[in-house]
Amino acid sequence: MTDEELIGRLIDEAFRAPDWRGGAARRGHLPLFSYWGPVLYLTPAGDVVRNDDEDGPLRPADPGERTFGLARAAELYPELAHLRPPRPRHAVTCEQCRGRGRLTVSQGRAAPWDGTRSFVFCPGCDSLGWTSPAEGGDERAPDHGR
Ligand SMILES: [Zn+2]
Repeated sequence: MTDEELIGRLIDEAFRAPDWRGGAARRGHLPLFSYWGPVLYLTPAGDVVRNDDEDGPLRPADPGERTFGLARAAELYPELAHLRPPRPRHAVTCEQCRGRGRLTVSQGRAAPWDGTRSFVFCPGCDSLGWTSPAEGGDERAPDHGR
């Protein structure tokens, strides 16, 4: 099954999802993340798109949104785990979240997520847990197990 067929099947399933995805599903668009109104989607062609207003027009995601969207796709849909951006060899662990990709915000201060409390996705690394000092290098080491 190609990614296109797989994403198409996942879209069909998303319409029947009991959670927020059921309400956010659009024909030809797999919901990845809800910003409480705007939604990030994956198309069968592999593009990440979003809207800025609920039910507003879709636009291409910017690079950070695309990274974040692919990480959510890999997390929400195990069949799409291979879409998670691979960690480059020279990537550095994110200082804000110490590699967790999530933060706990408590009394106005952000700290690495402790694994139990509610969390927000880390904006410093687009939830990947690492940042790449040199963008676009060709030395990419697939590292899906972390
Ligand atoms: Zn981070």
